[in-house]
Amino acid sequence: MFHRVLLLGLSRGLLSRGLRTRSRGPFDDKDGKWEEFKKKVQAAWPGGSWEPFSDTSHLPPERADVVIIGGGVIGWSVAYWLKRLEARRNAIRVLVVERDPTYSRASTVLSIGGIRQQFSIPQNIQLSLFSIDFLRNINEYLAVPDEPPLDVQFNPSGYLLLASEENASVMEHNVKVQRQEGAKVCLLSPKQLKNKFPWINTDGVALASYGIENEGWFDPWCLLQGLRRKALSMGVYFSHGEVTELVSSVRPMVTSSGEQVNIKRIYEVHVKVNNSLEYQPVECAIVINAAGAWSGQLSELAGIGIGPPGSLQGTRLPVEPRKRFVYVWHCPQGPGLEAPLITDTSGTYFRREGLGGHYLGGCSPTEEEEPDNGDLEVDHNFFQERVWPHLAQRVPAFNTLKVRSAWAGYYDYNTFDQNGIVGPHPLVSNMYFATGFSGHGLQHAPAVGRAVAEILLNGHFNTIDLNPFSFNRFYLGEKVLEHNII
Ligand SMILES: Cc1cc2nc3c(=O)[nH]c(=O)nc-3n(C[C@H](O)[C@H](O)[C@H](O)COP(=O)(O)OP(=O)(O)OC[C@H]3O[C@@H](n4cnc5c(N)ncnc54)[C@H](O)[C@@H]3O)c2cc1C
Repeated sequence: MFHRVLLLGLSRGLLSRGLRTRSRGPFDDKDGKWEEFKKKVQAAWPGGSWEPFSDTSHLPPERADVVIIGGGVIGWSVAYWLKRLEARRNAIRVLVVERDPTYSRASTVLSIGGIRQQFSIPQNIQLSLFSIDFLRNINEYLAVPDEPPLDVQFNPSGYLLLASEENASVMEHNVKVQRQEGAKVCLLSPKQLKNKFPWINTDGVALASYGIENEGWFDPWCLLQGLRRKALSMGVYFSHGEVTELVSSVRPMVTSSGEQVNIKRIYEVHVKVNNSLEYQPVECAIVINAAGAWSGQLSELAGIGIGPPGSLQGTRLPVEPRKRFVYVWHCPQGPGLEAPLITDTSGTYFRREGLGGHYLGGCSPTEEEEPDNGDLEVDHNFFQERVWPHLAQRVPAFNTLKVRSAWAGYYDYNTFDQNGIVGPHPLVSNMYFATGFSGHGLQHAPAVGRAVAEILLNGHFNTIDLNPFSFNRFYLGEKVLEHNII
């Protein structure tokens, strides 16, 4: 058995890289020569951490039908749905590549776990409606035999959005759209607002909208691990490594508008495995860009955005990491159990965190205030100057709050219109996007994974028409804007 594992490991890993070694181990190393040999190889091996008997299961297979780059909530959701919707069992080989399985900088685990129906674009509302159903029935979707059931800790406390006089009519219109799509949202006058939430100071509030059901927050880590666990149990491959190169074939073509373009097809993905300077080539048919905040960088590896400005070839994927701070404070006199997730007229938001008088919240900076995204350091002055004054104005009890902790994470920020990009690239014909959700990707992940699987397997969206979220809008200059985006 040991030899079988060893041979499999070697054939998938070391032998495929051309390294030849003897299949013997320390168990018969009577003369110490094996140890000596091992030390020599370790010294010669780039990175110096070669281990002949280490687990090589993280190495990618030599080929995969679909390579998903990015093992965050979006990547694993796409993997799960591909296996779930494939016509025949094991018809397609799916590989997820993730460079950091600890997820130390991934947006998914640094998010605040919110889900709401209060969007203005029908597609976003529909995505949320499906996702909430998925979360409520998560064990019907993601149960794995002999594994414990998932507890996503959904907190159905609702979202409460506050509008000033200036934004009240937009809010009214949005709620009409939300109701048409089947969401249960009510409008509250300042008086009704005060009756329901007496701890709110209603100064400057002309109207409020409140999600009566299907809104609140949940545990992002649980959703991520649940999708991952299920996808792996369905035969999805996983590789711990970084995609550093996308190798394409090129076919020149002239478009109907006379533009000379190169149609590309990625046929090989290079995965740099951990602790090694080597890469593993993986032959592939389809590549999914689910690299979150880094998906703009990844698309450059495929030559996307490299071309004359204003041309289709020169149109980049406008997604970049934007740092957002989340502060956690303690305030025993605060609103308590009744508190929904509140977004103030100023854009400041907060919600309850647990049951012990803790709250978390923050506020998106303006373009001018955008912090440097080189690290995930927290700016504590930002809380003092930009967040706290609004909190204390809206909830007077927060005058006495004490900040207990804070963190920062990256939005996968779409600088063009702050909405997701779903579907294929027009020129790199086998690269599909599932990225750019800018602050609502976690809640939309279950539905986005299904949409990507549909377009890949059937060539079109079956359930929710996400064509407005295609890449082409960047070239055409057609923004898909949310009103009241948080
Ligand atoms: C502070 C904060 C609060 C948020 N709150 C909410 C909320 O309440 N509700 C909501 O719906 N959304 C929220 N979001 C947004 C949400 O977290 C993201 O939209 C979502 O998690 C994106 O998921 P993802 O899988 O695309 O990205 P990620 O989770 O970042 O995963 C992408 C992965 O790709 C990997 N990767 C990148 N490049 C490569 C490469 N070349 N090779 C291999 N791997 C690579 C990265 O290591 C990363 O793990 C919030 C985000 C932040 C930062």
